[in-house]
Amino acid sequence: MKYTPIQNYINGQFVDAATDQTLDVISPVDGTHLSTVPLSTATDLDTAVKAAKAAFPAWSRTTIKERVQVFFRYKALLEKNLKELALLVQEENGKTYDEAVAEIEKGAELSEFACSLPQLVTGEILEVSKGVECRTEHVPLGVVASIVPFNFPSMVPNWTIPNAIALGNCMIIKPSEKVPLSVGRLAELLQDAGLPAGVFNVVHGDSEVVNAICDHPGIEAVSFVGSTKIAKHVYQRATSNFKRCLALGGAKNHLIVLPDAIPGMTAQNITASMAGCAGQRCMAASAMVAVGPVDHIIEKLCEEAQKVVPGKNLGAVINRASKERIERYITEAESQGAKVLVDGRSPNVEGKENGTYVGPTVIDYVTPDMAIAQEEIFGPVISIMRTNTVDEALAIENANPYGNAASVFTQNGGMARYVIDKASAGMVGVNVGVPVPREPFSFGGWNESRFGVGDITGKSSIEFWTKLKKSTTKWNPEAGINWMS
Ligand code: NAD
Repeated sequence: MKYTPIQNYINGQFVDAATDQTLDVISPVDGTHLSTVPLSTATDLDTAVKAAKAAFPAWSRTTIKERVQVFFRYKALLEKNLKELALLVQEENGKTYDEAVAEIEKGAELSEFACSLPQLVTGEILEVSKGVECRTEHVPLGVVASIVPFNFPSMVPNWTIPNAIALGNCMIIKPSEKVPLSVGRLAELLQDAGLPAGVFNVVHGDSEVVNAICDHPGIEAVSFVGSTKIAKHVYQRATSNFKRCLALGGAKNHLIVLPDAIPGMTAQNITASMAGCAGQRCMAASAMVAVGPVDHIIEKLCEEAQKVVPGKNLGAVINRASKERIERYITEAESQGAKVLVDGRSPNVEGKENGTYVGPTVIDYVTPDMAIAQEEIFGPVISIMRTNTVDEALAIENANPYGNAASVFTQNGGMARYVIDKASAGMVGVNVGVPVPREPFSFGGWNESRFGVGDITGKSSIEFWTKLKKSTTKWNPEAGINWMS
């Protein structure tokens, strides 16, 4: 085992869970046994909630200007430790080193946004009647929780940590049991940045901890990022316990390609979108809807896809079960009549035979009724569906229950605007394969990709992590008394 067994982080200390049940943490890169992660219980969660509750009065009483100082320092520490943090992400998640570096850099950008919060939460004040003022303040909620997935071990935690904590809350995070190492390192960096004990806590585990979070009366709000099935479960369970909840789910993102698209750029963007992070992104291209004669673009797409080599510029998928599931979708589509143009099944990755790799895969003549066209694949696979008109393409995109992202590739501005208007997705790209809105814009999908109101990052997150206090004051005795004063 490469690292010591993972522990929870509660009240500023690494501590053992109240159980000996653990899971192995295996690197998808080459099958190395990295560590074990505890399957914590409701008792461990309760200890963390008590620590967070105890820390809340002092933390929430500091000014936001003081609180963001921690995140100026945390951002600098992320940058200083970039290489080590990226190697850890690469090791536990399987993505390439360059992708892991980008993930850490994005975490720093998210902290940079948190540092700007004092400028964004100034509240409002107005003399509403003679001598009477109304004023609003954003007040923290208390103890909040963040439940995160495996695909971004460092960035997705950083979607919630800086904003929730800078706004005055105390947090408990439940990392993915598949990638539990990075968050422990983030806890150390937050401590080094000066965050007081108890403000940030980590409880490892699986569904037992998640359910305990949804049920615990001491937790005010739950943010979740993961698959749609679990997002629905968490949203339902947390809100039925009267908690605020924002649950982001899975995705099936469509790229609509028109014949006038610039072939080279379009092929490069589609390849980067479907194969980046081995297709394990909720913003990954999964379906390409080809409108009319675009064979010349598909040819280029196959050329680009073949430049993506597993174990070199393409990382591993998270585990063997995931690799087998992805390859099953390809085989099933082929048996139903789809044509595999670039086949990534069972690649040979020399020296990494125990890693879990799927090569880039391009499948043509997929029809909308096939499972590969309807379900989230979460691997480096793009399915091409053929249509004659943009409206037919949009009908396919609209019919899918998810709604994270959609993109259009064209040089026609009017057509691009038409697709922006008609696509049923929260984030739309024009000639952009991964239309992630960078800070200060907020991130969030629609439909079955998001349950709850608002977005998880950016300005929208202020509404989620705070409640409004409205005060009405009158200080001058001369002000007349009427029903409004
Ligand atoms: P997942 O839903 O399996 O797990 C997410 C979290 O839920 C983990 O912490 C896990 O321990 C917990 N969990 C798993 N099963 C549970 C159960 N039965 N009951 C309670 N909790 C449970 O997701 P994943 O496989 O880790 O991540 C991949 C998924 O996340 C994909 O569907 C991807 O699209 C999605 N995702 C979405 C976004 C977004 O912004 N919409 C971002 C990243 C990932």
